[in-house]
Amino acid sequence: MQRRAALFLLACIPFFTACAIIPISHPSQASVSKLPSSPVTLKRAQFLMGTLVELTAVAPSDAIAQASLTAGFQEIRRLENMLSTWIETSELSRVNQAAGLEPVGVSAETFELLRRALEAAEYTEGGFNIAIGPAVQLWNIPEAPRIPSAMELEIAAQYVDYRRIHLDQTRRTVFLEKPGMRIDIGGIGKGFAAEKAAAVMREIGATGGLVAVAGDFRVFGRRADGTAWPIGIQHPRKPGKILAMLDAIDEAISTSGDYERYFMKDGVRYHHILDPETLQPARLCRSVTIIAPDATTADALATGVFVMGPVRGMALVERLGLGAVIVDAQGMVIVSARLRDRVKLAP
Ligand code: ADP
Ligand code: MG
Repeated sequence: MQRRAALFLLACIPFFTACAIIPISHPSQASVSKLPSSPVTLKRAQFLMGTLVELTAVAPSDAIAQASLTAGFQEIRRLENMLSTWIETSELSRVNQAAGLEPVGVSAETFELLRRALEAAEYTEGGFNIAIGPAVQLWNIPEAPRIPSAMELEIAAQYVDYRRIHLDQTRRTVFLEKPGMRIDIGGIGKGFAAEKAAAVMREIGATGGLVAVAGDFRVFGRRADGTAWPIGIQHPRKPGKILAMLDAIDEAISTSGDYERYFMKDGVRYHHILDPETLQPARLCRSVTIIAPDATTADALATGVFVMGPVRGMALVERLGLGAVIVDAQGMVIVSARLRDRVKLAP
């Protein structure tokens, strides 16, 4: 998770409009309730997890819609405090601080997140790797546009083996085997939070909703008029332009791309998704959108498939029965089998 400078708050609106997935034709900030019996739609935004979080709730009454938004934000804030490696007292920070020293007891949720992350690492043959922390710190994109030396990367390579993250289910502990190891959940944490927030909103009584944590989206139920949630996928090279559209119901949509957090040097693009094999920015895709039943899977796989590239990545998506829209390094758009009837590509 990324803590951006406070000043960034001022820039968060343009950031969001450029973000990977764009919900289309949201109702406005105000309640749109007309008839006494018609559902109410409310939408609110807050700056959390270093990014703009936008929640939309559809509920039988204004009070329920309000309560569900409040609870959704509270849930994301709670998870941020538990998981953010930018917060020194978070459970994950304590795990990182104890690298090479001792196992650290964690909550059931942190344990679940890490278990899911390691599962994603297996699926993606190491493309998705939360042990990537030391390399992420070296590149520090986009804050420090500097290319680490070969020597620096060689040293970091000794600390990025996810198989050295040990989860003990019985004791519910996490142990990083080597001092210097560092877990980074930037590629899965926002999806995990979106999933949990949607569940809480539903519990409070929202019949439909949309949770948008930057490029990680979770929708549930339907919009007030009974229709699905229209979602636009951002074009990776045309800021603010939509590449494709699809209607979503009870599923998650996550995009990972090379076009938001990056810098250019000598005509080469250096972005924030690293190939764990080389510790260089992954080069086979421009963007990967994954559609999955839950947001944790969608987020982790978007990052992991980005690293795997269109051929191996799409084969994995098909094997898992998920959906994907991949823009490869040449700009070609590839749509997975089950999405071909659902995705409308922009002309
Ligand atoms: P975003 O955070 O911009 O939504 P992603 O979900 O693709 O995009 O996550 C990218 C972040 O994940 C990086 O900023 C970094 O913190 C972390 N990361 C980078 N490379 C990998 C990787 N190969 N596997 C897992 N996480 C990664
Ligand atoms: Mg991700």
